[in-house]
Amino acid sequence: MTKSEANPFKIAQQQLDNVAMRLNLKKGIHEFLRNPRRELSVNFPVRMDSGEIKVFTGYRVQHNQARGPCKGGIRYHWNVSLDEVRALAMWMTWKCAVVNIPYGGAKGGVICNPKEMSERELERLTRRFTTEISIIIGPERDIPAPDVYTNAQTMAWIMDTYSSIKGYSVPGVVTGKPIHIGGSLGRNEATARGCMFTIREALKHFDHKVIPPEKWQPECEIGEIEGDICDGDEGTGYKIDNATVAIQGFGNAGSISAALLSAKGAKIIAVSDSKGGVANKEGLNIPQLIEHKSKTGSVIGFEGANDNLESKGVLELECDVLVPAALENQITDENADNVKAKIVAEAANGPTTPEADKILHEKNIFLIPDILANAGGVTVSYFEWVQGLQQFFWSERDVNVQLREIMTKAFHEVLDISLKEEVDMRTGAYMVAVRRVADAIMHRGIFP
Ligand code: NAD
Repeated sequence: MTKSEANPFKIAQQQLDNVAMRLNLKKGIHEFLRNPRRELSVNFPVRMDSGEIKVFTGYRVQHNQARGPCKGGIRYHWNVSLDEVRALAMWMTWKCAVVNIPYGGAKGGVICNPKEMSERELERLTRRFTTEISIIIGPERDIPAPDVYTNAQTMAWIMDTYSSIKGYSVPGVVTGKPIHIGGSLGRNEATARGCMFTIREALKHFDHKVIPPEKWQPECEIGEIEGDICDGDEGTGYKIDNATVAIQGFGNAGSISAALLSAKGAKIIAVSDSKGGVANKEGLNIPQLIEHKSKTGSVIGFEGANDNLESKGVLELECDVLVPAALENQITDENADNVKAKIVAEAANGPTTPEADKILHEKNIFLIPDILANAGGVTVSYFEWVQGLQQFFWSERDVNVQLREIMTKAFHEVLDISLKEEVDMRTGAYMVAVRRVADAIMHRGIFP
């Protein structure tokens, strides 16, 4: 399957099918999990700044809620399609299950080009879309969060609109909110930080350091944590501070991964965004690059780089760790053979097609699958929701410590099953996740 033919929903179904047999899943449960439980398509008008009325199409898809309320981001992008949202909703179900947080999966999207819209137009679009989907979202039902080209401000508009409909403040309807209206410290960095924790464990594994189950919990005590993360990787040859890293995508997931990894001593040798890529074998200065991107809107033209690349060129560079952090279907059967990284950490959702997966596996590339590598975002979203329900807010250090514990445990649970069953990490992650969801369905029973 080439990139242009790849349908993310078919891929998601295929990934489920691959593990259903291994898990001996009942036929009916398998069938139930192959499709979303509920889908809402909406067409709605928005008044543009010019006075013109434009009609937009959006979706909210709830894949499964056996383990708890549905959870998943909202994406604004010109390529949004119902099948893409279906796939992303299914991946959310597995993601919440693999890190064992009590949520099901959902996703939303609006077909639009946010880059060509003003702030006021985006606000009107968000508020109207919220009204349209308000019939199925809510703090106990389905809780949106930011995704591609949506952010904390978008969440604030959704919360305010939903609260206006209800007549009282409902902060728990979204996560990823600004801090002063109930957002969690550490949420903005959580996807990248969680990804970094999985990379750290993968580097230890790559160094053939076998970690026994009793050590899956990070070794150091909370009191030993300085600043925002724990070191805890003494004694390994492959350490973050020895690693060379290439990153595709320089938004929330990509740029913060770059910042966190480089702060830990990794050499970020190349990054790209939708306009192109920049490279420097000696390592890019990430704080300066972030400043450059915020001034110019792109990484291209950065003075600290000594080479320019196409957006996808970063995927094929020689490096220890490759972090796809842009969109789905970036590593396909057309370029997988050219990937030279030792570890691929999927910060993006669905960046690798199943055909490419096989090629990477045959090349002995260690892949940390999306549902594990980028689960830090939804994990801290869960912390935000818990803090909001309790009206008791944690310190950033507490958030990061809990995140590290969950990510490290999940990584080793997946690694353990993948070693025992002799399967790749993606299959291992699906086996852990699908088993948990199927067990929840069976325990709840089929109504009536
Ligand atoms: P974002 O909008 O902040 O950034 C997206 C980045 O990708 C931008 O820099 C954009 O220029 C770049 N990009 C777009 N098309 C590209 C292309 N063809 N080549 C190279 N770069 C390209 O979005 P984000 O929140 O960072 O999300 C990125 C990925 O991570 C998505 O797959 C998303 O679903 C996933 N993800 C994000 C979170 C989160 O908390 N933000 C959580 C889990 C998963």
